[in-house]
Amino acid sequence: MSHYQHILLAVDLFDHSEDVALKAIQLVQEHQAKLSVVHVIDNLPLVDVNYESLIPLDTADMTELLINNAKEKLALFLGKLNIKPESQYLEIGSPKIEITRIAEENAVDLIVIGSHGRHGLALLLGSTTNAVLHHATCDVLAVRLQDD
Ligand code: AMP
Repeated sequence: MSHYQHILLAVDLFDHSEDVALKAIQLVQEHQAKLSVVHVIDNLPLVDVNYESLIPLDTADMTELLINNAKEKLALFLGKLNIKPESQYLEIGSPKIEITRIAEENAVDLIVIGSHGRHGLALLLGSTTNAVLHHATCDVLAVRLQDD
């Protein structure tokens, strides 16, 4: 196995994220690697009350609210597991695109990701894990998660 130097943990902040994070921490310790964490605020359209059309998520207030909520949730999550990453990335957009972009731009050599996680409407958009496995230029570890 390669000697990893920079590990990127991708967390969607659902319950299973803890299992993914613990695996990343284990590898960080084994490889004495640098740890970065990425969370992407999924840029999903909202379904309007009549379910007849999709409303793009583009209002400034809504975006600010989402960013603040995500910051708080990510801080709680990292604090609970006593994880102190060297870098944290909070992005807005498509998780698969943002995770691979952050990995490439920061010389990440291993991405640690869950085997699944999609809930609700997001299920329709397909697996982040599959896309990252196909498009990442570094190694990817998909941590097998039990079904809910
Ligand atoms: P999914 O494709 O939604 O089933 O998610 C599979 C895995 O991709 C999750 O367990 C996370 O590791 C990662 N992931 C999915 N969505 C996000 C997100 N919004 N931010 C960061 N990582 C994510």
